[in-house]
Amino acid sequence: GPTALALLGPAPGAPCCPHGPALLFVKTSQGKEEGRRFYACSACRDRKDCNFFQWEDEKVSEARLAAREEYNRSHQPCFTHRQNVDRYKNFVLLPLSKRRFCQECQQLLLPAEWKKHSHHQFLCDITTTQLKSPSQLLYPLENKKTNAQYLFTDRSCQFLLHLLTDLGFRRVLSVGTPRLHEMIQSKASQEEEFNVRSLLLDIDFRYSQFYTEDEFCHYNMFNHHFFGGEAARETCRKFLCEENGERVIMVTDPPFGGLVEALASSFKKLMAMWRETEKEGHDNREMPTFWIFPYFFESRILDFFPSFSMMDYQVDYDNHALYKHGKTGRRQSPVRIFTNLTPSMIVLPEEEGYRFCTVCQRYVSSGNQHCEICNSCTSKDGRRWKHCVLCKKCVKPSWFHCNNCKCCTLEKHSCGKSDSGCFVCGKAGHKRSACPSLSRS
Ligand code: SAH
Ligand code: ZN
Ligand code: ZN
Ligand code: ZN
Ligand code: ZN
Repeated sequence: GPTALALLGPAPGAPCCPHGPALLFVKTSQGKEEGRRFYACSACRDRKDCNFFQWEDEKVSEARLAAREEYNRSHQPCFTHRQNVDRYKNFVLLPLSKRRFCQECQQLLLPAEWKKHSHHQFLCDITTTQLKSPSQLLYPLENKKTNAQYLFTDRSCQFLLHLLTDLGFRRVLSVGTPRLHEMIQSKASQEEEFNVRSLLLDIDFRYSQFYTEDEFCHYNMFNHHFFGGEAARETCRKFLCEENGERVIMVTDPPFGGLVEALASSFKKLMAMWRETEKEGHDNREMPTFWIFPYFFESRILDFFPSFSMMDYQVDYDNHALYKHGKTGRRQSPVRIFTNLTPSMIVLPEEEGYRFCTVCQRYVSSGNQHCEICNSCTSKDGRRWKHCVLCKKCVKPSWFHCNNCKCCTLEKHSCGKSDSGCFVCGKAGHKRSACPSLSRS
């Protein structure tokens, strides 16, 4: 029968892989009793990237534990963050002609190391501008399931930055948003009056070559693991203290294949960290957050954060053909901003067609028509949706009401078969591993 994988969450005393504490899962088959529980890597969906696996009730011998520890140690980066910071200091002292970046190792090279990399491709004359935009210098990680990096277009990144500065935020906790972080850092270094700061939390350790320990923490957002231990955790905690009334916002753009419940659990821990920094107490307030994620995850996100609402703004990416805001025949990006801020405060650009709906008290996309019956602007994907009187709700324009199924669905479907659909996008006909919304062309 069909099997399902359920996440039981971060468990106390969980064994560790190189990516920190593993998560506890259970595989259930329909019609069967409780499935057997097991631990697997939190960060990697693909066994090829991390094959950590252990049954919850498995007895692990001393020898295997020791071997595992040794394995985890040997799978840490070859330089520490501290070493990388020192290397950077030396690197910027070099004349342009001696500044090389190894493309194969994705590493800034000091002259003494050239020989070791002589058979690798490298870039020369690395400028200060390049050092200030590492997301352009580094290859976006490609792994589809584990760590695909989709970088914001300049348009989307500028929009986010303006939005949050206009809202009065002065500190940005950038969780998996290296390009936003980089835009903030470079503006801060160039413009006297720009007083926004950012701390980047990301699993991509390559960034430690460009940022100090106060600017970057090696972090796993699926298990809230700080690779740098207590010192890194403290850096984050200090950053969240709103000294001098500098208000903090968390902005996160996690990999879409990721487990929503694991992400939500980590974000709640970051929010708790923020709440605990406040001496007078933030009472029951939630740390202001932008969670950038596809619209088809709306109900999943609201399950964990009922205070959130989804904005119509379409976030697009440079290296994702599917999610690009094209000039002609514009393809609509399915990626949105979920936030716990009051929707009416999120001003969307009118020059891109967004307009304010006075009834809904929020900005909506140009195609999103206010439905008088639902009394709301109901489109999720930017196209104009239509109201079905039988379903008593608005549905996608491509759907028809099927009298057999007693609901609206695609015209081509087999009646009565409720295909459970893809885990990622919810559409029928493919599994999560083959989801077209995760692949790029
Ligand atoms: N649009 C963003 C990048 C989003 S891509 C920007 O332009 O800034 C997803 C980001 O999450 C990448 O930077 C990736 O390195 C990071 N990431 C992926 N898995 C992660 C994990 N387990 N923990 C923390 N960060 C992770
Ligand atoms: Zn792992
Ligand atoms: Zn409306
Ligand atoms: Zn309607
Ligand atoms: Zn219908």
